[in-house]
Amino acid sequence: MKQADVVIIGGGIVGLATAYQITRQYPGRLVVVLEKEHELAHHQTGHNSGVLHSGIYYKPGSQKAVNCRAGKKAMEDFCAAEAISYEICGKVIVAVDDSELPALEQIYERGLANGVDCEVIDQQRLAELEPHAAGVRAIHVPESGIVDYRQVCRRLAERARERDAEVVTSTRVTGMSKNGKGVVVLSTGGDFEALQVVNCAGLHCDRVTAMSGAQPGAKIIPFRGEYFALKPEVHHFCKNLIYPVPDPTFPFLGVHFTRMIDGSVECGPNAVLALAREGYKKTDFNIADLTESLTYPGFLRMAAKYWKTGLGEMWRSASKRAFVKALQRLLPAIQAEHLVPAPAGVRAQAVALDGSLVDDFLIQETECVINVGNAPSPAATASLNIGKLIALRLAPRLS
Ligand SMILES: Cc1cc2nc3c(=O)[nH]c(=O)nc-3n(C[C@H](O)[C@H](O)[C@H](O)COP(=O)(O)OP(=O)(O)OC[C@H]3O[C@@H](n4cnc5c(N)ncnc54)[C@H](O)[C@@H]3O)c2cc1C
Repeated sequence: MKQADVVIIGGGIVGLATAYQITRQYPGRLVVVLEKEHELAHHQTGHNSGVLHSGIYYKPGSQKAVNCRAGKKAMEDFCAAEAISYEICGKVIVAVDDSELPALEQIYERGLANGVDCEVIDQQRLAELEPHAAGVRAIHVPESGIVDYRQVCRRLAERARERDAEVVTSTRVTGMSKNGKGVVVLSTGGDFEALQVVNCAGLHCDRVTAMSGAQPGAKIIPFRGEYFALKPEVHHFCKNLIYPVPDPTFPFLGVHFTRMIDGSVECGPNAVLALAREGYKKTDFNIADLTESLTYPGFLRMAAKYWKTGLGEMWRSASKRAFVKALQRLLPAIQAEHLVPAPAGVRAQAVALDGSLVDDFLIQETECVINVGNAPSPAATASLNIGKLIALRLAPRLS
């Protein structure tokens, strides 16, 4: 049996940022990261929009707000020190008509409360920043940015390995059992005896929590987010980041335009139930995953509450015309022929038994296991701070 001080399950950005922070905080401690895929950042981290979120949306004092603010700063410092290209390009959040002004105002208030550099701008200023966007008023957030999180992950793994961490791919964790002072982690690459385990398994974090013997606080329901990309000849439609005023009932931000660090422009996403936890295509289907979602009382309660919104999202998934119409609210010049399909992403959204979507980050602890039970957007932005806090929580446990 192999020995480790800490085993981290999951080689996405949260697991890797945690490994990076633990190896810096506790030199000499042996950290092992186990990732089931053949490469790191293969799931949510490798399919995200690459935005460095400012923290404007989140309830002041929430885990999201606190970790996003500190994490963004840490991510910028990391990228600067490591010569990873990132850009502070700014973003606009656009109210398309007067009915959205109260919600826009609320976001602005939150931004101020969270210490975000932001200002309310009029149509004229919006036209200067984003000449093709349509709206009656907007918030300009100059400090929002873009980055390639895959590249960040590669560097985090490199730096952790330099401090003797083992970052192992193609190794799936299949079980855990308590063993004296620690835990035995069973995997397809052999068994590991660890003092502490950190579960950063993203779309499977609730299952891994159950493996550890703990009761997950919520179940992961996978939501596929579909995207189109602008054809190069219309890239100028979007200079940087153009977002709508989101529906405050949901933790999703609504279909938006994102200039990526490679210069491409992504449009989307919608949010439809994925028929498999890693179901990136409409046809991807896993009977066990789907049965688990559809028989979960929390999912049924959520579906009963939000069926109308869900149908709208499904319609946008089925009909390109409907998708284009949603995009035209923000950029009226967009036509179907300007768009090509782009890869989808799947979001791990924790849903509580009462049908509510867990909004904030959720981290639960047992004696030997720290479970990251909900790490949706902006967890990539926030990852270095989430990792730092997990490392701090380990201090008394490793002594
Ligand atoms: C479409 C989309 C757009 C987004 N845009 C942004 C954005 O612009 N900015 C931002 O800050 N956030 C964004 N997010 C959110 C962000 O990407 C996620 O919050 C973040 O990537 C979560 O990282 P993670 O490490 O928890 O999960 P993941 O990246 O999913 O990593 C979990 C890893 O665990 C592995 N794993 C699972 N089970 C096991 C097991 N049993 N054994 C071993 N390994 C296992 C998986 O293979 C996976 O690699 C977006 C998310 C999506 C889906």
